[in-house]
Amino acid sequence: MSVLVSGATGFIAQHVVDCLLKENYKVIGTARSQEKADDLKKQFNNSNLSMEVVPDISDLSAFDHVFQKHAKDIKFVLHTASPFYFNTTDYEKDLLIPAKNGTVGILESIKKYAPQTVERVVITSSFAAIFDAELPANKNTIYTEKDWSPATWETSQKNAVIAYCGSKKIAEKAAWDFLDRNKNIVKFKLSIVNPVYVFGPQVSSSKVTNTLNTSCEVINAVLKSKPTDSSGKDVMGYFIDVRDVAKAHLAAFQREDTIGKRLFMSNSPFSSQTICNIIHEGFPQYDGEIPPFEEDSKLLANEVPYVCNNRATKELLGWEFISLKKCVDDTVTQIANVKS
Ligand code: NDP
Repeated sequence: MSVLVSGATGFIAQHVVDCLLKENYKVIGTARSQEKADDLKKQFNNSNLSMEVVPDISDLSAFDHVFQKHAKDIKFVLHTASPFYFNTTDYEKDLLIPAKNGTVGILESIKKYAPQTVERVVITSSFAAIFDAELPANKNTIYTEKDWSPATWETSQKNAVIAYCGSKKIAEKAAWDFLDRNKNIVKFKLSIVNPVYVFGPQVSSSKVTNTLNTSCEVINAVLKSKPTDSSGKDVMGYFIDVRDVAKAHLAAFQREDTIGKRLFMSNSPFSSQTICNIIHEGFPQYDGEIPPFEEDSKLLANEVPYVCNNRATKELLGWEFISLKKCVDDTVTQIANVKS
């Protein structure tokens, strides 16, 4: 029996695939081109990984051929593919439609071709589906697993951040609605993973390029900044290590107690100055290269823009999340090794 991982070439998905292969699962990954599929096969060099090409999840039938071929094999579906970037002005085409159609499309393909063989579905949603991007910063605003972003298709036209939140909220809602409407037709149980900013090393150093994926670029941007730049003391949000997010994807289909849950993956708040200071503590070679070590005054004063309260998820999962220090240390070690 196999696990289907959509968007297997992505930053988070590669960690998920890595964990699955280490636990001896057979994995079917999807990538947007044959070249990307071949590249990932080569990277993992593991006969338990096979790949299929799914060029664009905006197409509602994008996953049909995957299920036509593998319907009897696929027991678990982890849908991670979704656009995560902000440099677009065509919010519908680039963010909303692929996020929504990708989710609805993969669930419709299960319904058509594997309604009784797929047992568990995990969707990588986001804190963006929980967060209200239009609220001013206020440390009395508390988000939990129960909250929903108020973003709609219409408000998502305002800017890329709201559009990304809208894309994740609309896609996640569509998944819960689909299950509600089809619970007598499909067998699968649904679990959702909602991470905040995901940092950490890439699975393979070959993926360390000058510009990293959207979230890891936050750390990379500190490394690329000049000593005269302001590092930024405003608290940007909360972080979670990618290795915890990958582990949560496995818990989300392996454990009974995660059925029907939103796993709100968040560890601690950070500013660019926090990251800068961790780099100074562990990597003296960056002295004089990046902004100086300074008191992280806003974080120390608990001037956070909101609070992520994920006590329920932490208690449910029951493991200690990786600290920001270890996360930044491992990320910077990998980047420094590639550049040296
Ligand atoms: P990546 O950009 O590294 O991964 C996104 C994956 O989705 C890639 O494989 C990408 O393929 C694929 N994809 C995007 N658009 C399409 C499309 N139209 N058709 C087919 N495939 C597509 O980002 P992450 O790993 O960071 O994100 C993975 C998931 O996690 C996303 O759902 C994202 O919303 C979510 N998430 C990420 C967070 C983070 O901080 N990183 C936080 C919370 C949620 P390709 O690269 O070839 O374009």
